[in-house]
Amino acid sequence: MAEYANIIIDISHEKLDKAFQYKVPGDLQEKLSVGMQVEIPFGNGERRATGYVVELTDKPEYDLGKMKEIYGVVEGSVPIESQLIALAGWMRKNYGGTMNHALKTVLPIKQKAREKKQRFVKLELSKKEASGQLALFEKKNHKARARLLTALMEQSPLPYEAVTGKLNITASVVRAMGAMGILSVEEKRMYRSPFGEEFKQGKEQLTLNQEQQELVGCIWKDAQKGRHKTWLLHGVTGSGKTAVYIELIAKMVEEGKQAIVLIPEIALTYQTVVRFYQRFGERVSILNSKMSAGERYDQFERAKHGELDVMIGPRSALFTPFSNLGVIIIDEEHETSYKSETLPRYHARETAIERARMVGAAVVLGSATPSLDSYYKAMQGEYALLKLEKRIEEKPLPRCEIVDLREELKQGNRSILSGRLQELIEGRLNQKQQVMLFINRRGMAGFVSCRSCGHVLKCPHCDVALSQHNNGRMVCHYCGHEEPVPAACPECGSKYISGFKAGTQKVEEIVKRKFPGARVLRMDFDTTRNKAGYEKILSSFANQEADILIGTQMIVKGHDFPNVTLVGVLAADLSLYISEFHAVERTFQLLAQAAGRAGRGSLPGEVVIQTYSPSHYCIELAGQQDYVKFYETEMECRKLMGYPPCGHMMAMLVASKDEMTAALSAELLGKKVRQAQDSGKLSGLSVVGPANAAVAKVKDIYKKVIYFKHEDYQELVKIKDVLEAFVGSHREFANIIMQFDFDPMNGF
Ligand code: ADP
Ligand code: ZN
Ligand code: ZN
Repeated sequence: MAEYANIIIDISHEKLDKAFQYKVPGDLQEKLSVGMQVEIPFGNGERRATGYVVELTDKPEYDLGKMKEIYGVVEGSVPIESQLIALAGWMRKNYGGTMNHALKTVLPIKQKAREKKQRFVKLELSKKEASGQLALFEKKNHKARARLLTALMEQSPLPYEAVTGKLNITASVVRAMGAMGILSVEEKRMYRSPFGEEFKQGKEQLTLNQEQQELVGCIWKDAQKGRHKTWLLHGVTGSGKTAVYIELIAKMVEEGKQAIVLIPEIALTYQTVVRFYQRFGERVSILNSKMSAGERYDQFERAKHGELDVMIGPRSALFTPFSNLGVIIIDEEHETSYKSETLPRYHARETAIERARMVGAAVVLGSATPSLDSYYKAMQGEYALLKLEKRIEEKPLPRCEIVDLREELKQGNRSILSGRLQELIEGRLNQKQQVMLFINRRGMAGFVSCRSCGHVLKCPHCDVALSQHNNGRMVCHYCGHEEPVPAACPECGSKYISGFKAGTQKVEEIVKRKFPGARVLRMDFDTTRNKAGYEKILSSFANQEADILIGTQMIVKGHDFPNVTLVGVLAADLSLYISEFHAVERTFQLLAQAAGRAGRGSLPGEVVIQTYSPSHYCIELAGQQDYVKFYETEMECRKLMGYPPCGHMMAMLVASKDEMTAALSAELLGKKVRQAQDSGKLSGLSVVGPANAAVAKVKDIYKKVIYFKHEDYQELVKIKDVLEAFVGSHREFANIIMQFDFDPMNGF
């Protein structure tokens, strides 16, 4: 019953990014709630605009004489929980962007999709009354009425379509009988279930082993005490993490709580979903990008109305409107898809922890190769670390061999398949076992390396690989350092210095030529472009309709193929030298995940890693599957350079249609910060750049980036606020776009 409403105007513009207060008209006072979308007069001409109610209050905070009144609620507006609005506020503050961007993110479906309703015809008479009535109709020879009544006496309610269709009764007859009080027509909202018939058979019931039970017990006991910790579950591939999630969620559900399970879209496969469905039935739902807006809306509605206990999905499932959330699970927590690359550039992990904090829920992060960020936080005591160190039923981890491609070159083998790998493939084919060949394509950004000695050309200032540009020069994307591509390797003098390029199609040709008898499947962007392609290739490989599966990163995530006993990684170092500080971490994760595909069934597995950098710690430790040692080594490098998680990084994008404007503005802003530094302010801050963005020009927009590093995240937030205000109040910046990215994963 509030008289005033604070409203965020629905225009994505920084300058409007604050709440405006409006009067709530009398007839709306009962109805209006936080999160509703309303129509309001805005600006000079009293133009109609829309906005979100973010707060209701009885205290006017604005001149009452000038305060305008809300026109009304936007039809079909969906109220969001005030909790989610608070979360949007937190996102806006910590990641930049406008409140509007943030609200639209926590409210993924803006407009109510057209509701799908089904009508039913229901008998309103007792059996006895109905028989009497039937006799009357028959006597008067009202055939249609008699027919409907007879049907209703057998079954009520009846679907309206069946009445007008199969029974051939007209709408006016139904209406007339309704007016006589014989029947009523009711409407029921129908939700679309995302599950087809294929899900509805079988029931998987696992008995957790002792290790798993202890973990569940540990998290559960803590949750019972009302603590809301963040747990990091570090468990090798196939160690039974998913089984732990399911058991924990089952306990939460028994207590009337709900759970959100985040899974990277690519790992959201039939196999995974079936396991949850078999445990929670129709009380579980999924979200994915293939669903229509209507389907997604339905699943949120079901969650809000208490019809669901568990929601599984990618990043956006985090905003499922559950009112009694007990736990948020983030599986494969190291995946980069948890970071949004559009405004607001939030990280689902941090945002999940904030949402959980607000409502006292637990968070469980799971991975075989945790992100350095999370493992660091666990080491600092911010997260609680849990471990599953063995595969279920003591299945051994695969044996790993590293093949030095420089040696192959020396021996005259220029093929993409080393002698050793060819030999092993041959053996598997003879034994009717399956092989996966993984092509690491992440590194196509074009670093320059020597094929004889493996030397990679790096920026002398930033310790990241230089990127080759078409003009024959190499550039650093952090600081802008530039130099020409040398004609020979500065280390060994070899002239085999270039990028390493091989596509999946090329590899497929080579493999088919080498092993003409083998059945080969290829999975990449081309073969999975249509929706069904992806599932089709996976299921045909799972059914052993092929011997060799060739693919990019998409084949290494989460799939379970028990008959695969050999995994070959064709160019392990391709992603090692992307000009980006995460490159080594990502490569380690990819190699470990790829290795995790081998030997999941009853037969032991083997992995071959082909590389030009066999002595790089990343390759060596991935071969030994020693995560902890890798963590320690990589952290030394991060510490040295002040890269996250040792301190934080903020990327600022300055973009403009005019190249000069972008360049000058970036220079000016960089200078302003450096001046403040010179006068003794901003201690502990380092500023790098401006430099061109990795892709310096997109759709005729020129992009410059400046990097800021500081130990304290909130200090970076303050610098963002100051720069935003500065740019907002100076007209010379009117034609630039400014955006921020905190602890960037892919950068601008
Ligand atoms: P992760 O999520 O760590 O990869 P999963 O939970 O998928 O591990 O378990 C790997 C395999 O082991 C699955 O096929 C699963 O059904 C099976 N499994 C998990 N826990 C048990 C258990 N306690 N007893 C028997 N099989 C199990
Ligand atoms: Zn060399
Ligand atoms: Zn540099």
